Amino acid sequence: MTALSSLTVFGTGVMGSQIMMQAAYAGKTVVGYDISDEILETLEGRWEWMRRFYRRDLAGFTDKKFDEAISRITTTTSVKNALAAADIVIEAVPENLELKHKLWEQISAVDPGHAILTTNSSYFLPSEIAPSVRRSNRFAALHFATRVWLANIGESMGHDGTDPDVLDAIAQFGEEINLRVFRVRKEVRGYLLNAQIVPLIKEAARLYVNGVGTFDEINESFKVGLAAPTGVVDTFDSAGFNVFHDIFANDEDPSLREFANVMKIGIANGKTGLGDGEGFYTYAEDGRKTGLSNQIPPVWEI
Ligand code: NAD
Repeated sequence: MTALSSLTVFGTGVMGSQIMMQAAYAGKTVVGYDISDEILETLEGRWEWMRRFYRRDLAGFTDKKFDEAISRITTTTSVKNALAAADIVIEAVPENLELKHKLWEQISAVDPGHAILTTNSSYFLPSEIAPSVRRSNRFAALHFATRVWLANIGESMGHDGTDPDVLDAIAQFGEEINLRVFRVRKEVRGYLLNAQIVPLIKEAARLYVNGVGTFDEINESFKVGLAAPTGVVDTFDSAGFNVFHDIFANDEDPSLREFANVMKIGIANGKTGLGDGEGFYTYAEDGRKTGLSNQIPPVWEI
């Protein structure tokens, strides 16, 4: 199988930028598409944010290697240009089905017909997005976890119409960019990982909203009781408040909708988690936790 050497990522936010760097650091040529030059300009700051983690977390890190990775990345606001040389496409735009459909229609209209097409959607199934993908037989999910360089899982998941060789190609690409790839054998919301952790996340959100504990008590009880390195509340910070706002804003459970409003506090403050240096906790520049944020008070004080 020929290597997929050129990656295009649609949406250069929290996950898109991490995926771009993961691939570029592994030697791939990367194009990032976003809706404005202003947004694309913020990537420089994201690289410097990631550089500190790569330096801290990855054996064999050198600034030279990181700079070479940056030099393999280009950006564009043209869908057509973004697709021109792509061997594989990863869509990482916000978790909104209508928006994803619109983008995939745009992609399909100018798709030169060569690339493997994937979505990084956390919640939506490939079969829910596929109706707007013209070459849906070449379309599947490739789902990453935040802090890709450390939590290097890649979950692939097809829909009924996905050609089997597409999943083989995704597996090979994933390995080449240093992921451990898990092929999810049936379409399921949340893949293997999120299907297990989302119930925990929802429960942590409910415990907070119902005033059962402070966010730190909820987090620490989990860590202490399971001798675990991270707690569930840490996930809100590492994945970022935007994701949980989008997932919970329309949930049928009123407690989770209320939690989406709590996420709005951080979003309005521009402090949405680890990426901004503050979420429920505060962080040093190298990502070490430094204390409790006071932007989200215990619910009984709100
Ligand atoms: P984000 O809000 O940080 O980034 C989204 C990016 O998409 C932004 O740069 C935005 O400008 C851009 N965008 C908006 N509309 C667009 C359009 N029409 N075309 C192209 N780009 C557009 O979101 P995120 O956290 O990176 O999440 C992106 C996707 O990744 C979602 O589907 C989410 O479920 C999934 N995901 C997120 C995480 C996580 O931990 N954050 C983990 C795994 C998967």
